[in-house]
Amino acid sequence: MSTTSVVLDPATEQPVAEVPATTLEQTDAAISRAQAAYPAWRDLAPADRGLLLRRFAVAVDGAVDELAALEVRNAGHTISNARWEAGNVRDVLTYYSAAPERLFGRQIPVAGGVNITFKEPLGVVGVIVPWNFPMPIASWGLAPALAAGNVVVLKPAELTPLTAIRIGELALEAGLPEGVLTVLPGKGSVVGERFVTSESVRKVCFTGSTEVGTRIMARAAEQVKRVTLELGGKSANIVFADSDLELAAASAPYGVFDNAGQDCCARSRILVERSVHDRFLELLEPAVTGVRVGEPGDEATEMGPLISAGQRDTVRSFVEGDGLEVAIRGSAPEGPGYWYAPTVVLPHSAQDRVWRDEVFGPVVAVLPFDDEADAVAKANDTEYGLSGSIWTRDLGRALRVARGVEAGNLSVNSHASVRYSTPFGGFKSSGLGRELGPDALDSFTELKNVFLSTEA
Ligand code: NAD
Repeated sequence: MSTTSVVLDPATEQPVAEVPATTLEQTDAAISRAQAAYPAWRDLAPADRGLLLRRFAVAVDGAVDELAALEVRNAGHTISNARWEAGNVRDVLTYYSAAPERLFGRQIPVAGGVNITFKEPLGVVGVIVPWNFPMPIASWGLAPALAAGNVVVLKPAELTPLTAIRIGELALEAGLPEGVLTVLPGKGSVVGERFVTSESVRKVCFTGSTEVGTRIMARAAEQVKRVTLELGGKSANIVFADSDLELAAASAPYGVFDNAGQDCCARSRILVERSVHDRFLELLEPAVTGVRVGEPGDEATEMGPLISAGQRDTVRSFVEGDGLEVAIRGSAPEGPGYWYAPTVVLPHSAQDRVWRDEVFGPVVAVLPFDDEADAVAKANDTEYGLSGSIWTRDLGRALRVARGVEAGNLSVNSHASVRYSTPFGGFKSSGLGRELGPDALDSFTELKNVFLSTEA
C-alpha cells in the first residue's frame, strides 16, 4: 500500500510538501520499465544520446532559479549555495554530454588479427542519494551513467526528494524517453534496499553514511554487483606556521561550516603548528563570529539551519553531551528552525569523539602539531580519507604533505574539493571508486575485449 511522507522546511519547521513513498511493488515495476527502455537508449547513436543530454542540461539551466528556491525550502540551503548546486547539475550534464562520442576503446597489437576493446554499458543503474547535497550528488551518478548508455533509477533521501523529482520531470521535458531516468522517492529500507537486492539492477552508486554503505557493499557482494561508494569524512585542515595565517584563519570557517557543516568534505579537524596555535585561534575568532547565520533565502546569509531536529540532537551530543570546552561560538537565530551556531572546540586529546567521529554539523575541533611528520601522522589517524587542506608557502612541503595524507581530494592554500572535471572520492572508509572527471565513465561500463582473426 502506498504511503506518503511530509517534507518540512528546516528553517521554519513548517510542511512544504507531501510526497508519495514508493512501495516495493512500485520499485520493481519501475526497474522493469527501466529494463525495457534500456536497449533503445543503449543503441541510440552516440551523437543523439549526447544531444539529448545537452537538451537536458539546457532544461536544467532554464530551471536553476526554480530548483534553487525548492532546495532553500526543502533543505535550508542558502540561496547562493542552492543556485550553485542547480548550476552544478547543468554543468555535470553538459560535461558528460560529450562522453557518448568519446567512449573510446583501444586497438591492442596482437598476432594473427586485430584486437579491440569496447566500453559496454551495464544496464539498469541504481543511484542512492543522501540529503546533504541532493542535486549535485544525484547528477554525479546519473549523468555519467546515462552518457555511457545505462538507464537509471534514482532514490533521493527521504528528507529531500523535491529537487530530484523536478529534475526527473525536466529530463522528460527535454526529450529523454520514459524509463531512461526514473526518480523513486521513498525509504532506504524499501527502495534503496531493492536496488541492492534486485538482480535486474546491475550497479549501485551510493552516497551516504559509512554504516549504510558498508551494508550495501556486503549485500551487493552476493551478486558480485558493481558498487561505487561515497561515504563519510573527517578531513584535516593543516595550517603550518609559514602559511598566510590571516588567510588560513579567515577561510577556515568556510572550509567546515559551509552547508552548516553537513558536508562530507568538511575540514572538521584543524591542525595548527604549535608555534602559531594561539595566534591562529585569535585570528579565527572574528572569522567564526562573522559567519552570517540566518534565513537561507536571504542573499547575504552564509549558513542556514541543520536538516532536522534529529541531526541537531546529534550535533549537540558532541559538544554539550561530551562537556567540551567551547573556544569560540558564533550566532544563530532563536525560535523555530533547526539552528546551531558555528562552534569551535578544543578537544582534550586526539581520542575525543569530536576529533574521531563525523559530526556532520557546524562544529570544528582544533589541535596543535609539532612538525611536518607529526602533522601527517595526526591527519592520517582516522578511519576516513576523503579530503583535506594544507596551508603553507613552502611548495615542496605542500607536495610532500599532499602525497603523505591518505585522502582522495586535497587542496593547497584552498578548501576547494569538487570540480566536475576532476575525480572525486575517498580513501579508506570514505569510499570506493571515483566520481566526476574523465574516469567516472569506467565505473559505469564493462570493458569488453574482442579479437578478430585475419587468418580465417
Ligand atoms: P544515510 O546513509 O542514512 O542515507 C543515504 C541514502 O541511503 C538515503 O537515500 C537513504 O534513504 C538510503 N538508505 C538508507 N538505508 C538504506 C539501505 N538499507 N539500503 C539502501 N539505501 C539505504 O546517509 P545520510 O544521513 O542521508 O547522509 C549523510 C552521510 O552521507 C554522511 O555520513 C556523509 O558524510 C555522507 N556523504 C558522503 C559524501 C561523499 O561523497 N563521500 C557526500 C555526501 C554525504
